[in-house]
Amino acid sequence: MNIFKYKFYSKEEIEQKAHEVFKIMELENIPPRWPFEATCAADALEIRVVWDTIPSDNQGLIVARIEPLKRKITLNENIPNRSKGFEESTIAHELGHWMLHINQDEADGLTEQLELNLGIEDARKLFLCRTSETKINNANVQNNLDKIEWQAQYFASCLLMPRQILQAKRKGRDLTNWKHLYAMKDELGVTISNLTNRLQDLGLIYIPKGSKQIYPGKAVPNGQTSLLNKQSATYSTTLN
Ligand SMILES: [Zn+2]
Repeated sequence: MNIFKYKFYSKEEIEQKAHEVFKIMELENIPPRWPFEATCAADALEIRVVWDTIPSDNQGLIVARIEPLKRKITLNENIPNRSKGFEESTIAHELGHWMLHINQDEADGLTEQLELNLGIEDARKLFLCRTSETKINNANVQNNLDKIEWQAQYFASCLLMPRQILQAKRKGRDLTNWKHLYAMKDELGVTISNLTNRLQDLGLIYIPKGSKQIYPGKAVPNGQTSLLNKQSATYSTTLN
């Protein structure tokens, strides 16, 4: 059995996995609060988070990685201009890999074997995350690696911005007003693109690709409006 797994998850299943983390946090007496501290979730899952240099490889910059057998997430300290929101999103993304893509019983079993110095090939394997959230959210998700990255990022947005918290934060606010969105993203401790992607995903707003204009409600499906270019129609059919 492999320590890593890939399967199709519905959005509801991914959201459910995020809620499992909230339950574990409650049980561990680290109840979730917002702005969400992803390191608290990592603590509850007994995963260490460290900063270190991660050298780029021939495919470019690596933002973070998770080593399941060591239960360790490493964030690349060489990422320039990183914000608190970016850090939270990155840790939450790595926790998404832990919850969705790692056979955790297998990880625990292998850890025991490693302690006996049996040497397991899987021990060297890890997730290297290099893709920016914008790319993950907007790209046409095609291969399994893209899908895995998309799932982890979707998990992160469910963890950082659960529906009920968003509902509370949007009270008295106009979601088509950038000033209001910036105030919300500060209260949620996320980046503005985390927030707009989540709101678009929930069908609450729509921002045409390349535009700064925010429209209320869902993007209209492919072919029904001239507002949509082909790529944004792909976004709505691929991710909704
Ligand atoms: Zn990743």
